[in-house]
Amino acid sequence: MPPEDLMERLVNLCKRRGFIFPSAEIYGGFRSTYDYGPLGMLMLRNVKDAWFRSMVQLRDDVVAIDAAILSHPKIWEASGHLATFTDPLVDCRNCKERWRADEIEGVCPKCGSTDLTDARPFNLMFKTYVGPVAEEASVAYLRPETAQGMFVNFMNVLQTTRRKPPFGVAQVGKSFRNEITPGNFVFRTREFEQMELEYFVPPDQGAKWFEYWCDERLRWYRDLGIPESLLRLRPHDPEELSHYSSMTSDVEFAFPWGWGELEGIANRTDFDLTAHAKMSGQRIEYFDQATGERYVPHVIEPAAGATRTMMSFLLAAYDEDQVAGEARTVLRLDRRLAPYKAAVLPLSKNERLSPVAREVLALLQPHLMCEYDETQSIGRRYRRHDEIGTPYCVTVDFESLDDRAVTIRERDSTEQVRIPIGKLVEELRGRLAL
Ligand code: ATP
Repeated sequence: MPPEDLMERLVNLCKRRGFIFPSAEIYGGFRSTYDYGPLGMLMLRNVKDAWFRSMVQLRDDVVAIDAAILSHPKIWEASGHLATFTDPLVDCRNCKERWRADEIEGVCPKCGSTDLTDARPFNLMFKTYVGPVAEEASVAYLRPETAQGMFVNFMNVLQTTRRKPPFGVAQVGKSFRNEITPGNFVFRTREFEQMELEYFVPPDQGAKWFEYWCDERLRWYRDLGIPESLLRLRPHDPEELSHYSSMTSDVEFAFPWGWGELEGIANRTDFDLTAHAKMSGQRIEYFDQATGERYVPHVIEPAAGATRTMMSFLLAAYDEDQVAGEARTVLRLDRRLAPYKAAVLPLSKNERLSPVAREVLALLQPHLMCEYDETQSIGRRYRRHDEIGTPYCVTVDFESLDDRAVTIRERDSTEQVRIPIGKLVEELRGRLAL
């Protein structure tokens, strides 16, 4: 059973161990923004790599791009974001606080007043100006989703890669939304990272590929260690659908405060390609030279959040147990997500041990992300690595000087085995399935 205050404990661990820091903390923090520390940046990269491996590397029907974050206003006019990407806002006339109208039911949560203004739409896109003069002609937006990068480059990708639907274009990168109520740690932030696939299919195959991607994406979370009981797929009601979608299901995770979205899988039909064709006056379509066939593909979009997903992996992995009568905190992270794969630990800080320990480190570094740690007692160092999810500790002791062997300790079982240094790389690569 997870502890009652799991969220607090996790936030605390993230700060204490260097996963996630409040941004600009020395200045009192900055409006629900966060910085990823030495461990957090490694783990976030592992989440994105695991996604990329599954969605691009292991497939022959998906390519990836990396589009600009600063984007042309026409993109967002065509996509509908300028007109519809809004939340209704009300101001409290009494305490001047500003709220999302759909979240407060007519009463100011701060002062209890019901003297509120009418709701006004507030656009969630960050607007900025490119160049030295802040004028309408130089308006740009920070992208609120990565998806449009794939739509506006559709013809470029089609022509340069000679693809035929069904095929996909993937992208991983930052997106920005001026969220009115960021919160729940990194669940909702104004700057976050997305992992999106736009999968282009012949118009009559939309339903089939939608099913396929729902199954495929659920499998991905399970495969990386989220238990079945904490995951579900929730189809949207018709009135809940976005303006571009004919069908959407969310992959949801059981957060400590309730179910929350990790990923939306939507059938965007030909909405985006058609809108950009109209706005730009360009032909955006698939043309088969052999058959003369011509059509605007439909799009199935699995759109996930990397930062939000990382948090769910951390929550699912958090555990507390007892080892030899002593309490420990352990992150049971999948080996692929763990920031460090191995820690190299000389039994003590001793001048005879450290050359061998450094030799072991140099041996492992080309193959895996390692940490070298020689301060404090060995027991405390094991605990520290349990707490950050390091799957293996490699201990160099005085016997190692004679027998040229080291001890490998496994995180979950705490089992220890002795391995010759000459076989260590092979052993760890095998165990970590690298
Ligand atoms: P929500 O309903 O939570 O605002 P959304 O339905 O607007 O999310 P999408 O536009 O479908 O989200 O974006 C795809 C994914 O991007 C989401 O499932 C989520 O994982 C991530 N995401 C969206 N907004 C944020 C945010 N403000 N902070 C962190 N991650 C986000």
